[in-house]
Amino acid sequence: MHVLILGGTTEARRLAELLHGTPGLKLTSSLAGRVASPRLPPGETRVGGFGGAEGLAAWLREHTVDAVVDATHPFAETISFNAAQAAADTHVPLLALRRPGWVPVEGDRWHEAGSLEEAARSLPALGRRVFLTTGRMGLAAFAHLDDLWFLVRSVDAPEPPHPARMEVLLDRGPFTLDGERELLRRHRIDIVVTKDSGGAATAPKLTAAREAGVLVVVVRRPPVPEGVPVVPDPEHAVRWVGERLEQRPFRAID
Ligand code: NAP
Repeated sequence: MHVLILGGTTEARRLAELLHGTPGLKLTSSLAGRVASPRLPPGETRVGGFGGAEGLAAWLREHTVDAVVDATHPFAETISFNAAQAAADTHVPLLALRRPGWVPVEGDRWHEAGSLEEAARSLPALGRRVFLTTGRMGLAAFAHLDDLWFLVRSVDAPEPPHPARMEVLLDRGPFTLDGERELLRRHRIDIVVTKDSGGAATAPKLTAAREAGVLVVVVRRPPVPEGVPVVPDPEHAVRWVGERLEQRPFRAID
């Protein structure tokens, strides 16, 4: 049985680690190629786009894929939509692995936004010194905000368009609470902007903001494509793959 994991997340890597070496299972992890030196999962990997839903469907057919786990980031909307379309076209079972979103707790000062653009529109009325943690790909939405100062954290260096007044911090999670406290303090941050990515690796910024009384603009997630079953963690995804494996008649795999 050939399983394709659409990856680019900690959970996708963890899933590959859990499935790697399962008898009768061939595993391919797919990465978009956005990060210059990604942490690679065990097993086969391929890097780069498929060429839309049609390209992905062709890839599934050509490589006789039996099941797909879409373990991409909750905000990677296009690939998830393409996966749903390609899976429907090829009748290949598809599972979405989505870590749960964050939930506000007492003391949080959250301001929700439906998109990066909406978050950008809300900023001038909310503060002046912004810690932007939404990744370098969405920076253009904030590029026109000349009156605000930004601390931008991203894995690779951002390219224009980006805000005129910004300092870039090249780093990738997991982040520590002490580190996040220090960043907010040192840069006198009064707003944190984040996607509702969920997960523990990048959550300390929320705790640090709560402690410091700093406002957090949280960008809501796009929905998972309709009809696609969702599990919250790699362990559930392993079970789903195991069920598919049990149902399959024996066939030789390369
Ligand atoms: P996206 O907007 O949904 O996808 C744009 C295009 O990138 C897709 O149409 C596809 O190209 C290609 N692509 C995306 N994920 C791919 C994968 N795993 N394997 C092969 N091709 C892929 O995605 P994105 O938001 O730019 O994210 C790109 C990658 O970074 C994803 O793998 C995601 O898991 C990871 N990531 C994203 C975020 C985020 O905030 N968006 C955060 C952390 C990690 P084709 O149409 O040519 O197939």
